[in-house]
Amino acid sequence: MANSKFEYVKDFEQPDILLPNTWIVVRIDGRGFHKLSDHYAFVKPNDRRALDLMNAAAVEVMKELPDLCIAYGISDEFSFVFHPTCQLFERRNGKLVTTIVSTFTAHYIYLWSIYFPNKPLQPPYLPSFDGRAVIYPSTRILRDYMSWRQVDCHINNLYNTTFWTMVQQGGMSNTDAEQELKGTVSADKNEILFKRFGINYNNEEEIYKKGSVLYRQYKLQEPKSAQASMEDDTSAPEEKQSRSQQDKLKKLRRKAQVVVDHIDIIRDDFWERRPWILSNKPGTLPVEN
Ligand code: ATP
Ligand code: ATP
Ligand code: MG
Ligand code: MG
Repeated sequence: MANSKFEYVKDFEQPDILLPNTWIVVRIDGRGFHKLSDHYAFVKPNDRRALDLMNAAAVEVMKELPDLCIAYGISDEFSFVFHPTCQLFERRNGKLVTTIVSTFTAHYIYLWSIYFPNKPLQPPYLPSFDGRAVIYPSTRILRDYMSWRQVDCHINNLYNTTFWTMVQQGGMSNTDAEQELKGTVSADKNEILFKRFGINYNNEEEIYKKGSVLYRQYKLQEPKSAQASMEDDTSAPEEKQSRSQQDKLKKLRRKAQVVVDHIDIIRDDFWERRPWILSNKPGTLPVEN
């Protein structure tokens, strides 16, 4: 870049490097999706096309950014997770968040017509997303973050499923249904669904109950054999990898397929069978049939 007397303005830029050796979670959330979902007539409480579209956009983000180790999505939000060793953009907050938000939004809009062929996007109802980065200092806390989102998914979905069943099948008004559900616990909602409508909540689709988890697929391991690497928390930070090592790992990650799963991520089993997610060391690619 040419030197000029104006260049001093560069000094006004503030550093925003995220703390080293911490998990980075970038969570994005649809702006005004309540209105947007009304406008495009999303099915209540769960529009399958809208969820599939969110997942498809998130898969593309995972493919474009091999540094991501896992992502988790519910409703109009997605959490993207970078490993503590990640050095992408020198861990600059602004760069990481804006890259994820804009890459996701670009794919969401690009793929929209596949999932909603009869509902072309129209201003002012254009999808956009906000985003933020939060750092977590240990694997335990990262896992608690993921558990928090999945519990939220469960609580919201049980509420929404009961509410919309009372309205759609029970003919109740929104206000009456809301009133009746005030102060109820999970067991009450399960009972309303079962006794009044013959619906067993357990039989609802997994994608609605558990949300969507995206990760790179390698050969699954026996639980426990891998010791779901929470123990590496207390160890010293790993030595910085050289450029060529990083590139090699990146290539390996790109080869793995990104899968969309609807599965419990609160218990240890998920992490123990997929040790590469927390260790960030690519596993063995599954043998192709
Ligand atoms: P904000 O801009 O503050 O995020 P918002 O209107 O997007 O406001 P959220 O709390 O993010 O509010 O909630 C998203 C809303 O979008 C849900 O409450 C629901 O009404 C709607 N929505 C999102 N995804 C779906 C879906 N797959 N099916 C049906 N409705 C959905
Ligand atoms: P970073 O990701 O760090 O921002 P960058 O490659 O985007 O890196 P910038 O400093 O943002 O670097 O510079 C943008 C570059 O894009 C310019 O140096 C120029 O080469 C190119 N560029 C941007 N706009 C135009 C344009 N209208 N015509 C031709 N080239 C352009
Ligand atoms: Mg929203
Ligand atoms: Mg939301």
